[in-house]
Amino acid sequence: MAGEFDLIRRYFTRSAPSDLGVDLSVGDDCALLSVPAGHQLAVSLDTLVEGQHFLPNTAPELIASRLVGSTVSDLAAMGAEPRWLTLGLTLPLADEAWVKAFSTELHQCLDTYKMALVGGDTTKGPLALSAQVHGVLPQGQGLTRHGAQVGDLICVTGTLGDSHAGLQIELKNLSPALSAADSDYLLSRFYAPTPRIQAGIVLRGLATSCIDISDGLLADLSHILSASGVGAALDLEALPLSDSLIHALGLTKAQIAALTGGEDFELCFTLPAEHRAVLNNLGVAACVIGQVSEHLGVSGLESLDLNKAGFDHFA
Ligand code: ADP
Ligand code: MG
Repeated sequence: MAGEFDLIRRYFTRSAPSDLGVDLSVGDDCALLSVPAGHQLAVSLDTLVEGQHFLPNTAPELIASRLVGSTVSDLAAMGAEPRWLTLGLTLPLADEAWVKAFSTELHQCLDTYKMALVGGDTTKGPLALSAQVHGVLPQGQGLTRHGAQVGDLICVTGTLGDSHAGLQIELKNLSPALSAADSDYLLSRFYAPTPRIQAGIVLRGLATSCIDISDGLLADLSHILSASGVGAALDLEALPLSDSLIHALGLTKAQIAALTGGEDFELCFTLPAEHRAVLNNLGVAACVIGQVSEHLGVSGLESLDLNKAGFDHFA
């Protein structure tokens, strides 16, 4: 793709803000980056493949916001401050309009999260995109999955299940009676996830564990529980549900979507009760949905027959 590299470089080369520690950016064999003294580098990679993670012919802007939002969410879940992104682009052909639209939204997202694109790779093949994100955090302060203690509050940011409903709208599985406002909101939750960066940073040193919800609350919470060797008592009534989600699915299916629907990219974390007040200071609504217990597994969902109520359908 020799000629195409010029196209890529044209749309992906931009000077980085001076405060991001970028000593050398796109155009050499490597980028050279400075990690501030006393900090660790946090690194994570995600890949989106057409037909697997987004529908064929999805608008390039939507692919860009989803790629960056979902990848940066891993930095948020660690309590890291976003810094740098490298991009792996596999394109079936050098479609300048596509690249232009994709890169415009990509740069917009990077500005929002105060990040710099510092390199990448471009190849020809079926449409697929990888983003590796790099963030920094004070040495030893990363929010891991393994510190939850019996008695801690189990908390989540935002509302859950919206992204799942957004995907169902795209798949035409939902009643067309949904209002345009509800539908737009749910679709935006699927295509433009908001990484909870400030929340992760504020929770450093306070939360005992943290994860971002990519596979569904139950699946992701279970990673915390097994890494920490504890269980959870959840309060079904306390699950944060948007009005739009309830309009779309009704209460019971909304609760199931909140528990099992993926890709909300909200944070789920455990918090000693004495730090409860920090929930008002995360830059996003947050609430308590249960408590860490010594009994392994998850209790509190017995009134919701997940199998009968369509858990399989949502799996
Ligand atoms: P090399 O052959 O040394 O690996 P490449 O020719 O692949 O270098 O890339 C040249 C420069 O362009 C490198 O700095 C690389 O990081 C950058 N680059 C290539 N593709 C992309 C992309 N999709 N986004 C951002 N930078 C890219
Ligand atoms: Mg090289």
